[in-house]
Amino acid sequence: MKNKKRSSISRIVIELDKCTVCRSCELACSYHFKKEFNPNKSQIKILFDPKTAVLRITQENGCDLCKDEKSPLCVRYCVSGALKTERAE
Ligand code: SF4
Ligand code: SF4
Repeated sequence: MKNKKRSSISRIVIELDKCTVCRSCELACSYHFKKEFNPNKSQIKILFDPKTAVLRITQENGCDLCKDEKSPLCVRYCVSGALKTERAE
């Protein structure tokens, strides 16, 4: 049965204070969709203003939770632990 365990993932949880603005998640996401490393084609967006140090992370509607992958790629490549998966009850 394909990806039985990961099918219960309901959303990606973001902990802003752990984010180092490395942008690996954007590259991983664009690879998932386009097989290329291009932040412009990512469904997760790191929005950081260096002048104010304000950080926002958003997920666009196109996020499919990496349905055909073993696990969500943005979470897998977020080494700081700022992204985690939440499972459905
Ligand atoms: S991979 Fe994690 S630490 Fe890096 S920018 Fe994305 S959320 Fe932040
Ligand atoms: S779960 Fe997959 S599709 Fe959704 S933002 Fe993360 S890498 Fe992109």
